[in-house]
Amino acid sequence: MAEKRHVRCLIIGSGPAGYTAAIYASRANLNPVLYEGIQPGGQLTTTTEIENFPGYPQGISGVELMEDLRKQAERFGTEIHSGIAVSVDFSGKPLQVTFDDNQTIEADTVIIATGASAKYLGLPDEAKYAGMGVSACATCDGFFYRKKVVAVVGGGDTACEEAGYLSQLASKVYLIVRKNYLRASKIMQERVTRTANIEILFETQVVGLFGENGVEGAHIVQHQGTPEESYSDLPIDGLFLAIGHKPNTDIFKPYLSLDETGYIQTEGITTATNIAGVFAAGDVADPHYRQAITAAASGCKAAIDAERYLAENRF
Ligand code: NDP
Repeated sequence: MAEKRHVRCLIIGSGPAGYTAAIYASRANLNPVLYEGIQPGGQLTTTTEIENFPGYPQGISGVELMEDLRKQAERFGTEIHSGIAVSVDFSGKPLQVTFDDNQTIEADTVIIATGASAKYLGLPDEAKYAGMGVSACATCDGFFYRKKVVAVVGGGDTACEEAGYLSQLASKVYLIVRKNYLRASKIMQERVTRTANIEILFETQVVGLFGENGVEGAHIVQHQGTPEESYSDLPIDGLFLAIGHKPNTDIFKPYLSLDETGYIQTEGITTATNIAGVFAAGDVADPHYRQAITAAASGCKAAIDAERYLAENRF
């Protein structure tokens, strides 16, 4: 039997949205309990320098920013636990969430800030070579590829950022882009194109990997579906995926309205979901902006929405 306790405000997730919700909820005396979730500190802990979070003219590392947000939440009394939500019951009140530490929390309000996780191509070889040359986080694993040859898949800001980071470690970085253009912002595109050891392979897709005791190369197809279509092998030591993210909403599916790609739908300008007392903040509900600052802002909104909901409803 899982242990049970009751709280006024439960926050799931510890990215900018979760911690900002915690800062606001604790300052409003909601005594929030926050569970850190799958990736303590969230996705920002795997990025390098953050240059566009207002207030840091010199930039700040993702890890440092998240440590500061955590300290700020703790300063006002947020109770922080490590643990992952494994099941929920939103069929009645109080709302119930069970964590992998066998604790069930009964809550008057729940703020979901579980973020999103990196997507993979879906090739069987990605699983075969997991931890042996396949990664979705350059800052976590780039260190292992010093003076080696790597490839990054994707054409967005993340892919360009990862390629730029890896170019400082690896001898050569291929950026594998399925279209004939980069989707990334102009500034990121310029950085990539003026880095000597990054080579962009447009209209190229990875269809498999090969290697004895780890990745030694990728099977690629270029100009697929055109008269120039060609298959070849690209020798690389590591493959980094940077093709976007999937919202972490699987356990909420039976109760919450999600869009076709799994993002939680919220009502109008608020963070309210279709279940009274349940609010969603950050990337888990945002397929559009997905920035640290917008996640933090929606965390603030969720705490204010939770506070107003508690004031309007007697528990
Ligand atoms: P995006 O969705 O912007 O880009 C994903 C990229 O991966 C696209 O080029 C897409 O190709 C490609 N892709 C998707 N699926 C596949 C597949 N199966 N095979 C091959 N390629 C594939 O995601 P990002 O993670 O790059 O960025 C998300 C958001 O975060 C954006 O809003 C971005 O601006 C922001 N961001 C900002 C940063 C900054 O400002 N410093 C840093 C990182 C992210 P296609 O174009 O063909 O669809």
